[in-house]
Amino acid sequence: MFVYRTIDDVAALRIYVERRRKELGRTVRGAVIGGGLLGLEAAGALQELGATSTVIQFSDRLMNLQVDEGGGQALSRLIENMGVKVRCNTATDAIKPDKHGHVGSLKFADKGEQVVDVVVFATGVRPRDELARDMGLEIGARGGIVVDDTCLTEDPAISAIGEVACIQGACIGLIAPGNTMAEIAVDRLLGGSSTFPGADTAAKAKAPRSRRGELWRRLRDHARCARAHLRGPGGGRLQEGSS
Ligand SMILES: Cc1cc2nc3c(=O)[nH]c(=O)nc-3n(C[C@H](O)[C@H](O)[C@H](O)COP(=O)(O)OP(=O)(O)OC[C@H]3O[C@@H](n4cnc5c(N)ncnc54)[C@H](O)[C@@H]3O)c2cc1C
Repeated sequence: MFVYRTIDDVAALRIYVERRRKELGRTVRGAVIGGGLLGLEAAGALQELGATSTVIQFSDRLMNLQVDEGGGQALSRLIENMGVKVRCNTATDAIKPDKHGHVGSLKFADKGEQVVDVVVFATGVRPRDELARDMGLEIGARGGIVVDDTCLTEDPAISAIGEVACIQGACIGLIAPGNTMAEIAVDRLLGGSSTFPGADTAAKAKAPRSRRGELWRRLRDHARCARAHLRGPGGGRLQEGSS
């Protein structure tokens, strides 16, 4: 079983898949638990390593934080067309070993089961906020050190930035907002007055180069349909309050 966080994680996954392919003398069967951006990336990585790949998603659609229901369906079709199997609405209850003690199968809450040789977890991150917890600083409801718009914690001598900071009620797992927070913290130390403007959380999925055009075209078409639907008959925008 692997987590998907660092270059070392990816190197270990590659070595394991290559070793298991030789030992088993057949294609390695892979599964990724978590159908967010990173889960889809990991599924693509497994495929590139020559393994089969199934994404097991707890929610009713892939990338549920980024796309609506229709977008999720379109995305599932695209991902399946790339040869990755998708299983939504599926909670994994247990991972069972085979008779040699290797990973053997996934057991699901709906009593389903899938045989696997390798499993990658891409189920999200938790801020490493233990130090702040231990010293009694305020922690967000879902973890992370609470900061104000100047990146200061409730102790004016302590700032928090990046993924560990709970800013405007959320921890943001992207590099650009983390860099903005770093700039604000430095500016404030130098006597400036900048504040966090809010995060642009738009995300760009990394698909194999050969399939990117198709992926973006279909998602863009879906977005166009959704916008046209919102405009209503005659192309005019619906008035506020109309249904
Ligand atoms: C596989 C993967 C792909 C990603 N791809 C993208 C992408 O394409 N675009 C994007 O915007 N974001 C991406 N992200 C998210 C992005 O990596 C993070 O948002 C970003 O790294 C957060 O930066 P950070 O400095 O807050 O935390 P980190 O990069 O996690 O750095 C924190 C560091 O602090 C160290 N540390 C922890 N506790 C202590 C302690 N007590 N004392 C000292 N050191 C400590 C850790 O070892 C670590 O080195 C990706 C994340 C992953 C896992």
